[in-house]
Amino acid sequence: MIQVHDLHRHFGGFRAVDGASLTIETGSITGLIGPNGAGKSTLFNVIAGVLPPTSGRVVMDGEDISGLAPHELFHKGLLRTFQLAHEFSSMTVRENLMMVPGAQAGETLLNTWLRRGRIREEERALRKKADEVLEFLTISHVADEKAGNLSGGQKKLLELGRTMMVDAKIVFLDEVGAGVNRTLLGTIGDAIVRLNKERGYTFCVIEHDMDFIGRLCDPVIVMAQGKVLAQGSADSIMQNEAVIEAYLGT
Ligand code: ADP
Ligand code: MG
Repeated sequence: MIQVHDLHRHFGGFRAVDGASLTIETGSITGLIGPNGAGKSTLFNVIAGVLPPTSGRVVMDGEDISGLAPHELFHKGLLRTFQLAHEFSSMTVRENLMMVPGAQAGETLLNTWLRRGRIREEERALRKKADEVLEFLTISHVADEKAGNLSGGQKKLLELGRTMMVDAKIVFLDEVGAGVNRTLLGTIGDAIVRLNKERGYTFCVIEHDMDFIGRLCDPVIVMAQGKVLAQGSADSIMQNEAVIEAYLGT
């Protein structure tokens, strides 16, 4: 689905991503691991259009998508989750979900005005979809809760839920497990697996928790110092000498 060819992203003279090449297969849950500072988040940001590459190419289903803006990638079904924006924290969980397609439609005042007769109907459909998403993620009980009051793990589920309000094909998750308790991390893992199996989502997941990576991800790609160091099953990665050295060396 995604091919990254010799990608570079430099900051001044510093090579955060230094010639990374990798493939994300359609239908996979691909893990991306590596020591802090390896360039994982920068790689995600370049693939998702948040940062332009210094050089190199990103190809999605045969089409060169290098340097496209996030909203263009969003329309192609390539999504990167973000922490909930501060201004959404006073809205309810359901409202947060209902906001997603509107943002995608690129609505102008004019077309809102032209379509106002249909808005009630559309709102009902959106509400129904939001409730289905919450049920899928097993967080229906917080639908009317303010998003700002959710626990860290519930916020992660809501971020995942936002991708379900549109037709995502591939979702990039950066450190899903950070600050999330064990139980909710399990729930998030289950949601990822079900989205993969039942909805055909492809995932690329950055996570430090190797139990989580080992349970979910195949293959696992290891980055160090801006380059891809190894790729394979979680088990083979853990026994790879270069990988062990990269972790011990930092
Ligand atoms: P990881 O996610 O693997 O921990 P990052 O991609 O966040 O690594 O960072 C890789 C390196 O690039 C780090 O040394 C970081 O300090 C540097 N870096 C990241 N973003 C910037 C930036 N905007 N300006 C300068 N250096 C950056
Ligand atoms: Mg990072």
